[in-house]
Amino acid sequence: MRQARKSDTYTMARERMVEEQLARRGITDPRVLIAMRLVPRHLFVDKGLWGRAYGDHPLPIGHGQTISQPYMVALMTQAMEPKQEHRVLEIGTGSGYQAALLARLVKNVFTIERHGALTRRAREVIDKLGIDNIAIRIGDGTIGWSTYAPFDGIVVTAGSPDVPQPLLDQLSDEGGRLVIPVGGHGFQQLKVITREGNSFSTREEVGCTFVPLVGKHGWADEGR
Ligand code: SAM
Repeated sequence: MRQARKSDTYTMARERMVEEQLARRGITDPRVLIAMRLVPRHLFVDKGLWGRAYGDHPLPIGHGQTISQPYMVALMTQAMEPKQEHRVLEIGTGSGYQAALLARLVKNVFTIERHGALTRRAREVIDKLGIDNIAIRIGDGTIGWSTYAPFDGIVVTAGSPDVPQPLLDQLSDEGGRLVIPVGGHGFQQLKVITREGNSFSTREEVGCTFVPLVGKHGWADEGR
């Protein structure tokens, strides 16, 4: 009984999050809004943070990393224009939350995380939820995942000094979209790059602040 009441609390918190933080701020893709209503974000953070899981902010997930603000997760997901038949790559698994969201929206999700401990925890939560269309790998996501390329969408959830060339190469040449924060350590611009054949067009979205993308085609270190 107490368990049921608790889960009602989180369902209501998600409803409020979608109405107040997403729908009112320009998240309009109905599939994204439905997925944000359904994925239990609190399960992707430590129990001590469950009460803050649906707030309008990022939260710590250990190893100096964060689960992004719900609005930013929804905006990046919407910008990728996910379709049911798509195969997408996420760089920066972190808690596994955005991968779980994407798994509801596309056919296959491939996700890479450089911290082994985060990867293992994300996999545990994803398995517990019975999600079976996510492949997770420990490694440097700046080189992409060529075995499964090309991807209809790539979302990078860490801030990069430049756009990594391997990610452009691994985008589908039929409208593949790369969503990536690009800029300095403290502030980036969210870019949406669309590929048609060998031509790439770029649209700039909002300013944002992400933890650094550390790897061969990103930052050399975390800059702390
Ligand atoms: N998408 C995550 C979620 O839903 O919880 C949030 C990710 S957090 C903002 C960014 C993540 O990118 C961190 O976990 C960090 O370790 C990871 N990261 C940074 N550089 C990376 C790289 N080169 N390859 C893979 N992961 C990387």
